[in-house]
Amino acid sequence: MTVKEVQVDQNLCIGCGSCQAIAPKAFELKDGKSYVKEGWKEESEENIRAAKESCPVRAIFLTEG
Ligand code: SF4
Repeated sequence: MTVKEVQVDQNLCIGCGSCQAIAPKAFELKDGKSYVKEGWKEESEENIRAAKESCPVRAIFLTEG
């Protein structure tokens, strides 16, 4: 399975910064919320999955195919 799409639900995000710390090519914090970066595919899938698992409010969603 490959990660096809990455989404963050900003309504859930509490801006803890964990995803950005683990997968800095995929996530960036702006005004206290995390957003998926344009070039997220440059990040390793391992890091993206780890960032998802690290999210305390489960705000990161992956579409796999
Ligand atoms: S890990 Fe979750 S709560 Fe923390 S900044 Fe990322 S999306 Fe937001």
